[in-house]
This record gives sequence, structure tokens and C-alpha cells, in this order.
Amino acid sequence: MLALPPILERYVREHAPQEPEVLARLRSKTEAEVPMAQMLVGPVEGALLQLLVRLVQARTVLEIGTFTGYSAIAMALAMPPDGKLVTCDIDETTGRIAQAFIDEAGLGAVVERRIGPALGTIAELAGGGMRFDLVFIDADKKNYPAYLDAVADLVRPGGLLVADNTLWGGFVVAPPDDDSRAIHRFNEKIARDPRFESILLPVRDGIVVARRR
Ligand code: CA
Repeated sequence: MLALPPILERYVREHAPQEPEVLARLRSKTEAEVPMAQMLVGPVEGALLQLLVRLVQARTVLEIGTFTGYSAIAMALAMPPDGKLVTCDIDETTGRIAQAFIDEAGLGAVVERRIGPALGTIAELAGGGMRFDLVFIDADKKNYPAYLDAVADLVRPGGLLVADNTLWGGFVVAPPDDDSRAIHRFNEKIARDPRFESILLPVRDGIVVARRR
């Protein structure tokens, strides 16, 4: 994880929208009970995702990587009540926490959780003709290039593909391992993909925001 100096981190946080109360509670629970709690996107990235959802007026969102549901709930709170957010993960332990907070936030009808390898879920959605206004990739890093290939044509023209951890603590510059190499490959692919206009924002651990042409 890249970090701003704490004084700037605090300043950015103080000037972000207020974190919804349900998300503050979910963050506390995740930090108290779940290993790798730092995977949770947190208030600033959560607010950025909400802003992006509102900018494209997303009614259909696909999330790859649910974890404890913070980003799914953040995005779903910014969607209309008849919107649909599909989120997939392989971990049912963190998924149970996610579902409890999805229900608590009153988003049971908006958020649909799928358990299983994401590439399988994406193939099912593609087969069913689903298209998305926004796709958020935040799952196992080795599959980032494969996720890009699988979802690129599921993003509607004018929609967004967003990917988290694309600076991967800075390791993408001289990748020392498979995860770093995969993220670097993803960054190279999307930057050169004529279907997208993309930018890597140095926010938190790096966030690619790409608009489907
Ligand atoms: Ca992440």
C-alpha cells in the first residue's frame, strides 16, 4: 500500500464526503475481526467510487472481489433503488459479513452476491447478455489481465472500468513477483487498449479509471 504522509492523508480525509454510518460500522467490524482488513477500500476510495457511480448514473454495476462488502455497499448507496450490483468473491466467510451489512443498509434488492471464481461468473453474466455501466476490479491480482479481457466488452459505451491496487505499493515499476507482474501487464494492456480512454490515478494504492469508447 502506498501512503501519503499522515498529515496529508488526514487532510484528504477531512475534505472527503462524510462516511455513511453503516460503512463506518462495517469498517470497524472488519478491522476488529478480519485478517487483511487493510484490503478494505476505506472512506476516500469509497467516496470516489460513489462519485464515479453518480457521474455515469450507473444502474448496473459489476464488482469483482466483494471482501466484506464495503465498496459494494458504497457503490450501491449511490445507485437508484431499482439498480443492480452484482458482486463476486470466492470467500464465503467474509461474504457473510458483507451480506449482513448489505441487509442492514437496506440494499438486499440491489446487491446480488455470487460465490465462485469470478471468470465463471463473468462468463455466465456475458452469456445472459448483461451489460454494465461500471465494472470495479478488486480481486486476486494474478487474474487482472484475464478480468480485463473478460469484462471489456461488458462495459457499455460511455461506461467505466475501474481497477484497484494498480500501483501495488510501487512494485509495478520493477515487478518482483507474479502479482506485481500481472498488475503491470494489466496497466500496459488497458493503457494501449483502443476500446478505452484510461488514466492511472495515484490515489491510495493506485486506481485505474477507464472510459469505454
Ligand atoms: Ca483493493
